[in-house]
Amino acid sequence: MASGTLTIDLDALASNWRALNRASGAAVQTAATVKAGGYGLGAGLVARTLAEAGARAFFVAIAEEGAAVREALGPGPAIYVYGGHMPGDADLLAAADLVPMLNSIEQVTRQFETMPDAPFGLQLDSGMNRLGMEAAEWQAVAPLALPRRPRLIMSHLASSDVPNDPMNREQLAAFSAMVEGCGVPCSLAATGGTLLGAAYHFDMTRPGIGLYGGRPFAEARPVVRLSLPVIQVRDVAEGEIVGYSGTWTAPAPARIATLSGGYADGILRSLSNRTTLWHDDIPCPLVGRVSMDLLTVDVTHLPEVPAALDLIGPHQGIDDLADQAGTIGYEILTALGGRYARQVLGGA
Ligand SMILES: *Cc1c(COP(=O)(O)O)cnc(C)c1O
Repeated sequence: MASGTLTIDLDALASNWRALNRASGAAVQTAATVKAGGYGLGAGLVARTLAEAGARAFFVAIAEEGAAVREALGPGPAIYVYGGHMPGDADLLAAADLVPMLNSIEQVTRQFETMPDAPFGLQLDSGMNRLGMEAAEWQAVAPLALPRRPRLIMSHLASSDVPNDPMNREQLAAFSAMVEGCGVPCSLAATGGTLLGAAYHFDMTRPGIGLYGGRPFAEARPVVRLSLPVIQVRDVAEGEIVGYSGTWTAPAPARIATLSGGYADGILRSLSNRTTLWHDDIPCPLVGRVSMDLLTVDVTHLPEVPAALDLIGPHQGIDDLADQAGTIGYEILTALGGRYARQVLGGA
């Protein structure tokens, strides 16, 4: 088998949810954001694991994702859709018992016209200018929407990964002013907001990345490990090049291992000549370009070449890889391709 192996630690996932649940305080419900296929790890697998751990509310980006999570969870848990109610969604929202977070007057109108008795929530913009109704729109909509008993009113923080960013307090103030006295459960915090403290929690937190072991949840247990098999080993002489466009030249005689895994598997090409693979505790530099399905590693210093090397593991997490690639852990996770053999540790 030449595919890499992606190992997903369900006990670590559940433990991260429990830790964020403790951080959220006793009166606050801790939901779980499982959009983008559970941040690339498998929405059904992630949702079932977290439901088992105690999560009763889940968030996805679009109705189709919500239907898949409903399929995995069965009836009972609440599933909210950040993208709200798009044209043509009514049947799916109803069939899968999803709660759209209505983002605009247009979506509110669509909801009340096509499914007047169905559950819904509302998303407000508190300054990020991405999704949700602004204060003036909300003033117009509130008298129509509040009597219909929304399940939840939420907003989203733009900079919650930077605790001292003044934007956090500004958005908190803006959201508080918009929801004051509304009598509906409210939510503002994702992972970053959960860690900012109780003032940001309102009635529900809805962490995503922290569950999967990513920043800014520094105490998170790592959830994924990625191991790539060696397909071939060769010796190159001083001055020979390795890989497309010859971006690496052997400074001395070297032994090069070619591994299965490339940018089609989410190993970003910007990692070319910039990251390290690991044989247990021994670092082995990636040399040359990352190709579509392959990458090349300098293993000259290993006494013998192992069957596989780790790209993500105890010595190098998703955020380390993200730093090397000039991106964020979220992109590393959601880019993970469909070609890996997926191995699951722990769980019920
Ligand atoms: C993705 C997302 C979340 C979860 O954010 P994390 O930073 O992954 O915890 C919460 N709320 C909204 C609106 C989102 O888009």
